[in-house]
Parts: sequence; C-alpha cells; structure tokens
Amino acid sequence: MARLLIKNGFVYDPLNKINAERMDIAVKDGKIVDTLDKGSKKTIDASGMIVMPGGVDIHSHIAGPKVNAGRLLRPEDHYKDVEPKTEKTRAGVGRSIPSTFTTGYRYARMGYTTVMEPAMPPLMARHVHEELTDTPMIDKAAFPLLSDCWFVLEPLQKGMIEDAAAYVAWTMKATKGYAIKLVNPGGLEAWGFGRNVRNIDDTVPNFGITPREIIQGLCKVNQLLHLPHTIHVHTNNLGKPGNYETCLETMKCVENLAHDNKPVIHITHCQFSSFKGSDWRTFESGAEEIAKYVNSHSHVTTDIGQVVFTDTTTMTADGPFQFILYQLSHNKWINNDVETETTAGIVPFKYKRSSYAHATQWSIGLELALLIEDPWKIYMTTDHPNAAPFIFYPKIITWLMSKKARERTFRKINERAKHRSLLPTIDREYTFYELAIATRAGQARSLGLSAKGHLSPGADADIAIYDVNPEQIDPSRQFRRVRRAFKKAAYTIKDGQIVVKDGEIVKPVEGRTFWVEPELSESRMEITPRLMKAFEDYYTVQYENYIVPEHHVTNPHSIQVKTEV
Ligand SMILES: [Zn+2]
Repeated sequence: MARLLIKNGFVYDPLNKINAERMDIAVKDGKIVDTLDKGSKKTIDASGMIVMPGGVDIHSHIAGPKVNAGRLLRPEDHYKDVEPKTEKTRAGVGRSIPSTFTTGYRYARMGYTTVMEPAMPPLMARHVHEELTDTPMIDKAAFPLLSDCWFVLEPLQKGMIEDAAAYVAWTMKATKGYAIKLVNPGGLEAWGFGRNVRNIDDTVPNFGITPREIIQGLCKVNQLLHLPHTIHVHTNNLGKPGNYETCLETMKCVENLAHDNKPVIHITHCQFSSFKGSDWRTFESGAEEIAKYVNSHSHVTTDIGQVVFTDTTTMTADGPFQFILYQLSHNKWINNDVETETTAGIVPFKYKRSSYAHATQWSIGLELALLIEDPWKIYMTTDHPNAAPFIFYPKIITWLMSKKARERTFRKINERAKHRSLLPTIDREYTFYELAIATRAGQARSLGLSAKGHLSPGADADIAIYDVNPEQIDPSRQFRRVRRAFKKAAYTIKDGQIVVKDGEIVKPVEGRTFWVEPELSESRMEITPRLMKAFEDYYTVQYENYIVPEHHVTNPHSIQVKTEV
C-alpha cells in the first residue's frame, strides 16, 4: 500500500511542538508527506484517538549471545508465556526473554517501531545480527561494547585519542554497530582477574588507566567520529549502595567536553546508579541528588530502568555486578568472559513488593522520572529484561501519568520503603505530550535518528494510533483505560504499512538494521595490518571471519558520517 491518510486524530509530535492538534497525517511510499493529491488511498479515521510517531526504545536487550544464553538458562520462563501461531504470525515463547519473533510482535502491538540492542560484544556481532535479522516488525541497531576492549584501552592509556578513534571506526564498520557502549568501564577488564574497580579513579590492572580516562577518552572519540548518538554509559559500581556519587562523578567528568548545550553522555538505566547509603542496611534513594544535577546541566540524557514487581532475568555485560547479584539471590548464574573485549553475566531475579531494597528501587525509578523536570532528558525504559520485561511499559505509563495509579501500588510495598520514599511528596503527572517525548521523540533525538520520532514530511512513516480520547479521558483518574490503550495499539504503521490493528498483527514485516560507517582517511586505514597481527596474537577467530558482511544484516541501512580522524 503506497498511500495512506490518517484523518482527524489528536496528533502528538513534540519534535514539531504539535500538542494534541486535530490534524491529518499523509503517507506515501513509506514516508510522511505534506498532502496527498487525488487518487486511490487507504484512509484511517482516527477521530477521538491519539496519533504519535512510532515508539522508540533506546535500551532493550533483545538479541545476541547473552539473551540466548538467558533463554537456555530459563526453560521456566518459556511455558509461562506462549505466543500461539496464527495465520499471520509464527509461534514463540518467553516472558522475560521472548524468542525473536515474539519480541517483534510484542513491541509492534504496543505501537513501537524502533528498538536498540545496547550491548553487543564485538566478537559476537554475527550472532547479534542473526537474531536482530530474525526479529520482525521493528527497525533496530546494536551498540558494540568498547570500554574494556584492549585495542581501546591501549591507545587511550597513551593518550592517543585518534588511534582509539580509528579502532572504534573500524569496529563500527566491522560489527555493523551504531553507538559506543561503556559498561563498568575498566571493571570488566579487572573482572578477568576476579577483580573490579572501586571508583572512577581506580587503576585498571595491567593497563594503568582509570575509568575516568576511559570515559573521557571515548567521549572524545565519539566527538571525533561525529557519531549520531552520545556515549552510552552503564556506570561503575552499578547496583551498589552509595553509587549515586559514582554516577555524579561520571556525569561531571565529561562536563568540559560539552559544547552548545548539546548532550555528550547518556547514563542508561539510571535507577540502578542512584543508590545512597553505605551498605544494604542503610541503602536509600539518591534520586533527588541525581535529578538536581541533571536538571542543572544540559550535557546529560538518561533513561529510567524502571523496576516492576515481577519475575524476570537480569543480564548485563557487567560480569562483576552479576556475581554480586548471584551471591545475593543464590539463584542460577551464567558468567562469561569474551576474550579481549568484555564480560557478561545472567541471573534470574524476582522483584518483591515486600523487599525493602526492591521497593526502594521501584520508588527510585519513578522519583527520577518525576523529579527530572525536562522529559527530553529522561526516557522510559526497564532496561529490558533487567528491571522488568518491556511488556510492562503500559503499566509504567500509568505510574507516570497518574498519582492515583502510583498510590495503588505504593500502598502494598514494604513499610520501611514507604516511609523513606519521596513519592508521596511528588504530585507531578506526565501529560500525553510529555509521554510522547519520553517514549519516542526524546529517544529518537538522543539517538540521532533523524527520520524517527516525529511526523514531519520526509520522516519514516512509523506511526502509532491509540484508542484514547484526550478530551474525554483523564489519565490521572482513568489510568486503566490508558493502560489498555497503550497495551494494544489501535494501529501500528511501519514504513507506511498497517502492521497492527486493534492490538493484533495483521501484516508481518522485516524492519531494517541501522549502523554507522565513519569515513576514515587513507592514512588511518593502516590500522588494518596492526589489527591482523593482534588477531593472530590474541583472538580465537581469524580477522577475516570477524567482520560481519553486509548481507548478514536485514535491509541494511548504513549511516555514513564524515570524520576528522
Ligand atoms: Zn542494559
């Protein structure tokens, strides 16, 4: 279907400052256009409904070896949630770690059209792209893990930013990567020796470099390469009481690298990095301090990592953190060391309302979302599946939009957590406009996806229509109605095609994979012979087999950037 007219909906398009205006949206050949001339077209009557750009998820672990190992580790996760085969869709399973097809269908049903896999071990890029290719309905991209890679640490330790940049540029091309991911910088290299780093000025064993130098170095690399997104940072000491200070130090350490009020760092799943206290007995929320800093600085964006009380599967490249979680939970555990590059750990986890720590974490996420005043600075995520599976987004939307919805959950949480929570003092409720920022426009802008997150002519025709009338429904009181609407989009439109109707998949589509291709100057290409030698010395695979070929990626979409390296 080449032409589509969406008539008379309440349009929320924050990147164009359109706030609940009743207007038509025209689509031609997969793109938004100004108007459609006469001739045959499909029309959707969106009267009394909300029209937004398709949802964009900046951080969700949906593909790759860690996700797949999680599936193998947790057969009990499969039978709880079965996706039956239909005429249009394939069967699948999995609640917190759904299979690839199920992942695509579930995002599409909620009106999401773009999802970022934020932790790709470069060595495992082929596996990541195999699964991304297998995930239908959505556009996607993957962030290579680079903060503990030897070929990054070596040049950064010598202050050779351009050499580090040349390697990062090569990796983006070779692994079909999109953004620089840092996870517990330096800590993962230390974990190879059963150790960790304690703060951002601790020394990384064998490399004589500090996390601060890695963060600053990769931030400079990011700027040199003109990558579309900022550095994407999982902080040191994540998940430990007292870590809000590490989080503040991390944001501060790149303050001087910012120009023109533009963000230079994204702190991901900030909830896990906003803990006060010196141990689990004195543990409490540090959300107020983090929010205060973010409110007064323009070089930072964040996402929440909101906890939901449910059974889930934690998985991160932060191997040493997963070891702590394993010791706390006494549950099953997978630990992995990826040669010269990174680590990973997986531990099943249940967030309980009755637990002081879990209830406080639930509160911290919402405190951050509500105390950070500018919705362009904090985006809705659960760090799927770490704080909860992404299928809980509609529930989180109600917590953001309704104090009453928050209070209903609040009444049932741990008593001590209740007494110390800041939530009763916070009256703020998100508007639909703010929600559109936190679930699509802000995320697309932060990712530098210029054709996503808005509805101006030329944008990808990725659109979500929700059956809720903002003139008649008060989300503060009628939050259940809002939750239902966001759980099952009335329509999801992907590249101009109706793929979901009334919450059901009506047309399976493939989606595209985005990656960044920085242009290297001739002289910088000499990195290749050195790398080939390094592969012989250190890797279990050959250089030639490491590189992900373009035909390995679905509907490849490379973004070329001009570099000064
Ligand atoms: Zn994550």
